[in-house]
Amino acid sequence: MPTDFEAGGVDRERLGRLLERERAAFVARHPRSAAAYDRAEHLFGKVPMTWMNKNAAGFPVYVERARGARLTDIDGNDYVDFCLGDTGAMAGHSPAPVVAAVTRRLAELGGASTMLPTEEAATVGAELSRRFGLPAWSFTLTATDANRWAIRLLRAVTGRPRILVNSYCYHGSVDESLIVVGPDGRPRSREGNVGAPCDVTVTSRVAEFNDLDGLARELAHGDVAAVLMEPALTNIGIVLPEPGYLDGVRALTRQHGTYLINDETHTFSAGPGGATAAWGLAPDVVTIGKAIGGGVPVGAYGLSAELAAALTGRPDLDLVDMGGVGGTLAGNPVSIAATAATLREVLTDDAFAGMIDVATVFADGIRKIIDGCALPWSVSQLGARVEYRFAAPAPRTGTESAGCADPGLEDYLHVYLINRGVLMTPFHNMALMCPQTTVEDVARHHEVFADALGELLR
Ligand code: PMP
Repeated sequence: MPTDFEAGGVDRERLGRLLERERAAFVARHPRSAAAYDRAEHLFGKVPMTWMNKNAAGFPVYVERARGARLTDIDGNDYVDFCLGDTGAMAGHSPAPVVAAVTRRLAELGGASTMLPTEEAATVGAELSRRFGLPAWSFTLTATDANRWAIRLLRAVTGRPRILVNSYCYHGSVDESLIVVGPDGRPRSREGNVGAPCDVTVTSRVAEFNDLDGLARELAHGDVAAVLMEPALTNIGIVLPEPGYLDGVRALTRQHGTYLINDETHTFSAGPGGATAAWGLAPDVVTIGKAIGGGVPVGAYGLSAELAAALTGRPDLDLVDMGGVGGTLAGNPVSIAATAATLREVLTDDAFAGMIDVATVFADGIRKIIDGCALPWSVSQLGARVEYRFAAPAPRTGTESAGCADPGLEDYLHVYLINRGVLMTPFHNMALMCPQTTVEDVARHHEVFADALGELLR
C-alpha cells in the first residue's frame, strides 16, 4: 500500500521517481533535439518563442515534418499529435487544399504582401457570416489582434473605458484580459503579468465564469464597453457553461448597454460555426484565429450590422490609417487563400461531424480509464476537444479550475506519452481531433495513458 497519498489520489514519492525515469528516457530518445536546443544560444530563451520552453522534460522536441494528425521529430520519432499546435492545426498539419491554395498564390500568382485586396476575401467574409451569423468581417494575423481591435472599436462606440473578462480566461496577450479574482474576492493582476502598462483594475473588470450575480454586480458600474469571453473556458481546462448561464450573460449585457464579444478561437471546436452556432448564441462580435487559416497565420473579427453602421458613421475615428486598428500584413493574399481553402474544403460541416465523433470516443474511453482507477478526476468535451482535470466534479469557474492544477502530475503524463509517441498540448491535458485523427489514434493514446496510470498507482 502506498503510504503518502495526496491531492489527486496519487503517491507523490512514486510520482517523483517515475517522472525522473521518464525525463531520463526522454533525453535518451531525443539527442538531436537536445543538441539543437543547446546550439540556439542566439534565441532569447533558446527558442523561437518563449512559450516553447513550456515542456515536460527540459527542452522541446524539434519538428522535422508534420502531416494530418502525425508529426515526426528530428530524432526520427513519430507522434500521433493531439496538440495540433494548440488549435493552430485543428485542420490537420498542412492539409492538401491549403497547400495547393497557398502554393498557387505564392508560386503561380505571386503577391504575398500587397496591402491590396484579393477577390477571395469577400468569399471568406461571406462564409464566416454564414457560420457565425455576423455580417461584417475584417482580418488580422492573430486572434490576439482580433481581440485588441474589437476592444478598441467597442470602446470607441460606447465611450466606456473598461472591458470585462472571466477570471483565468485567456484571449492572447491582450493587456485588459490579465486580471483575476483574487483569494479575497477582489480583482487583481494575474500572477506573472509581464510589463503591464498600468494597473489592470483601471482598464478591466472581472467576474467568474458561471457567476451571473458577479457579472451583474460588475456591469452595474455602467463603465463596461464590452464583455470579452469564451462561451466555454478552454485555457484553464475546459469549463463548460451551466444551463442558463450564457442566456443570462446576453440578457445582462443588453440590460447594461454592454457589447458581447465571443472569442471563438478555441470554442470553434464545437462545430463549423463554433459555440455561437452550436448553442444558438447571439454575440455582437465574434473573434477568431488559429485554425481558420489551416496553419497559416490569420485572425478575424465579425461585427453586427448595427455596430458596423455605427462605426462607419464616425468620421472622427481613423479606421484607414494610424488610429489603432489594422495592420500592414492583415488580410494578405496568402492568409486569405489559406482561410478560403480551409473553410471550403477542410473544416467543413462533414469534417466537424467526424472530428466530434472521434472526440466522443476519446472522452468516453478516458472516462472509463479514470473511473477504473477510482481517481477523483473529471473529463470535459467541447466538440472536437477533450480535456481531463485533476478534480471531480468538473470545476465550475476558472479560479476553481486553476486551483486543481498539478504540474508534476501533468509533466509525468505528458512525458510518458511523448516517450511512447503521443503528443499532448503542453499547457493542458487537452486532446484535439483534426479531420485525419482516427479511433486507432485514440486507442493508442488510451493504451499509453492507462499504462502511465497503471505504473503510477501500482
Ligand atoms: N483567444 C483564445 C481563446 C486563445 O485560446 C488564444 C490562444 N491560445 C488567443 C485568443 C490568442 O491567439 P494567438 O496567440 O494566436 O494570438
